[in-house]
Amino acid sequence: MENIHPIFSTLLGRKEKESFLNQRSKVLWFTGLSGSGKSTIAAGLEKLLFSKGHFVQVLDGDNTRTGINNNLGFSLDDRKENIRRVSEASKLFLDAGIICINSFVSPTKEIRNMARQIIGDKDFIEIFVNTPLEICEQRDVKGLYKKARAGKIKSFTGIDSPFEAPASPAVEVMTADQTVEDSVQFVYDKIIKLISPE
Ligand code: ADP
Repeated sequence: MENIHPIFSTLLGRKEKESFLNQRSKVLWFTGLSGSGKSTIAAGLEKLLFSKGHFVQVLDGDNTRTGINNNLGFSLDDRKENIRRVSEASKLFLDAGIICINSFVSPTKEIRNMARQIIGDKDFIEIFVNTPLEICEQRDVKGLYKKARAGKIKSFTGIDSPFEAPASPAVEVMTADQTVEDSVQFVYDKIIKLISPE
């Protein structure tokens, strides 16, 4: 076999890719109740960052549970495995220099700690979308609260399964009395320094 010159035998590193993209890659991890606004803010933030020249990718239940996690349900073990795989996938995005915006209920400290451990403390930016249960339930975007109240969905976070609020999130956004645009701008202002080149 032909000898491969050492210069071609190693992969390009994260630093090269970050500098190519003119940004620092991070995982922006949105946690909060169903209907709190995670996906809406994540989508708005993706657009805003992209419009400013950043390269971003959103990971959420829609694009992971239909593919890489399509063999998982909602038991405790499956929820953990869901977050484990999402976290490992996020790490690959980090290595590609890409800012990853993750939107997952991730209801317990244990589950978020696992994500933090896999991703690495300095790259895991916890964003708590803090919306009172009553408001999430009023919004009931997907009609899930109604089903949970009727007993048609078991172990629904906020109803018959706990949500443990993060103790010291990097960002806490209160959406109850805010427009979507204001919430997106609020999060953007908090994270922009973290992802800008040093
Ligand atoms: P989650 O992803 O947390 O389940 P969604 O983003 O799907 O929640 O739904 C949140 C709903 O709340 C959307 O219908 C959105 O328009 C509405 N909403 C009202 N105000 C806000 C706000 N300030 N930020 C985010 N969403 C808001």
